[in-house]
Amino acid sequence: MLRIQDVTKAYGEHVVLDGIDLSVARGEVVCLIGASGSGKSTLLRCLDLLEITDDGDIWLEDREITDPSIDPDEIRRSIGIVFQSYNLFPHLSVLDNVTLGPRRVLGQKRVEAERRAHELLDRIGLDGKAKAYPDALSGGQQQRVALIRAVAMQPKLLLLDEVTAALDPMLVGDVLDVVKDLAADGHTIVMATHEMSFARESADRIVFLADGRIVEEGTPEQIFTAPREARTREFLARHL
Ligand code: ATP
Ligand code: MG
Repeated sequence: MLRIQDVTKAYGEHVVLDGIDLSVARGEVVCLIGASGSGKSTLLRCLDLLEITDDGDIWLEDREITDPSIDPDEIRRSIGIVFQSYNLFPHLSVLDNVTLGPRRVLGQKRVEAERRAHELLDRIGLDGKAKAYPDALSGGQQQRVALIRAVAMQPKLLLLDEVTAALDPMLVGDVLDVVKDLAADGHTIVMATHEMSFARESADRIVFLADGRIVEEGTPEQIFTAPREARTREFLARHL
């Protein structure tokens, strides 16, 4: 479904991604872990074409999305991305936040988009907030809305970059529950996270990055109980 081949990215002299190879199957949940600065966000941004890779290629299904002749906006329509904060449009109600993309981009009729939005909001327990504006919601509620807003676009791939990092610890669990729910629903998810217990419990695969390289990848079981590489062991010793 997603194939990353020998992707390299540098900012000036600083090589931030150094020969990344990674394939993700449909319905798979892959968690990217690694120290601050290891390249997790940069990799996600390259996948959404928010950054231009220097080398290598990225395939989404049967299209090479790093082909220079491709229209990035068209690719981004099939990829949902949620960041750690400031995801919602502050001047739009929750309902309008969720329906804007489906109406404008997917061409859904208002009634259809709103029906689906209410369904999704109901699923995250926030249908009662449909008319509220983002600033009337807690950070955790905003992130849950941001997640279903991405899903409302029926993306092939969901990219999540530390979606709980900016939240009060009390609010993290509810947001991760929504991610779990989306995973159970069969969404293909690539997610950078510092939430090791979530990664362990919910990922199909863990990818450990250091200095822009994949040091080790495997099932949560493998990575958390029997890491092969010394760098992985050191990282986990500090973060578990
Ligand atoms: P964190 O866990 O803190 O989010 P990360 O693994 O997501 O870290 P990145 O944000 O991908 O790390 O950053 C990787 C490296 O690239 C860092 O050294 C960072 O300083 C550098 N970097 C990121 N964006 C830019 C930019 N626009 N210009 C220059 N350097 C950048
Ligand atoms: Mg980051």
